[in-house]
Amino acid sequence: RAKGEGKNTYRHYIDEMDAEIQRRRLLQTDLKRALVNNEMFIEYQPQIDIATNRLAGAEALLRWQHPERGRVPPDEFIPLAEQTGLIVEIGDWVLEEVCMQIRAWQDAGLPQVPIAVNLSSVQFRRDDLLERICSAMHAYDINPGLLEFEITESYVMNDPDAAISTMFDMREFGVKISVDDFGTGYSSLGYLRRFPVDKVKIDRSFVTDIEHDKDSATLAKAVVQLGHSLGLKVVAEGVETKGQLEFLQNQYCDLVQGYLFSKPLPARKFSEWLESSSINTPVQHLVS
Ligand code: C2E
Ligand code: MG
Ligand code: MG
Ligand code: MG
Repeated sequence: RAKGEGKNTYRHYIDEMDAEIQRRRLLQTDLKRALVNNEMFIEYQPQIDIATNRLAGAEALLRWQHPERGRVPPDEFIPLAEQTGLIVEIGDWVLEEVCMQIRAWQDAGLPQVPIAVNLSSVQFRRDDLLERICSAMHAYDINPGLLEFEITESYVMNDPDAAISTMFDMREFGVKISVDDFGTGYSSLGYLRRFPVDKVKIDRSFVTDIEHDKDSATLAKAVVQLGHSLGLKVVAEGVETKGQLEFLQNQYCDLVQGYLFSKPLPARKFSEWLESSSINTPVQHLVS
């Protein structure tokens, strides 16, 4: 073993870390201009009712088309936006954009389905959350029942009482709440009991292994049962295969979302789903 190899490896890590820090710093700077430069847009991923095989709603997913880097995934830029506080402005924009879109679909006479918006913990913890939601909805005259907000278990851990009271306020206001990425958090399954929510989403990591991994299958079954016993709808995310769908059907899971049906789509493409759902056509499986 060559002398100094360990040192070189160490140097290599430092260089990689520096590059990563530098990359994040640059992205953070670019992120500040992304909204005004029109680099952000929203895609809509259909959610399908398993029992009827029909469109039941969609999740709004934020996209950033960077002028030089191309698409930057939300898992990369959302945490950066959260660190700088920029997420509040971005979150407002998402909300406003979604309300504008719901209004446009409504004006075009398309069927109305609820749209789910992901809410950052930073947004969720602000005192003016409800005001912001309210002002976006009023600006476009949107029925609160058409909006749903996705939060995760982790939002509740710091100060459960405050978080739960926020959820009650939201619910009273008329918007729906779903618990995203369920099963990945720190809380026990039983914690769900205390949340005044409407839906729970089984995380994609469990759905992926549902057919081959006993623990994932057990967890998915437990979430469906627990959800139903609490009167919640259960959504499975990341459904890619017919086998996964069959498993979920057998468990009486309510809704599915995943590439088996559709990838997230630009608004115009999603409109076509709204159009076809109006004539009672069950959804086709579009494996791509
Ligand atoms: P999420 O809310 O859990 O969203 C589901 C993610 O799974 C999305 O990734 C979606 O594109 C992906 N997905 C759906 N079906 C499949 C499938 O069958 N196979 C695979 N491989 N992936 C599938 P995406 O769009 O990259 O978003 C990642 C995360 O970024 C979201 O996870 C959410 O936490 C966050 N995010 C996205 N948009 C927003 C937003 O507007 N605001 C906030 N705060 N967070 C957002
Ligand atoms: Mg989500
Ligand atoms: Mg999720
Ligand atoms: Mg996720």
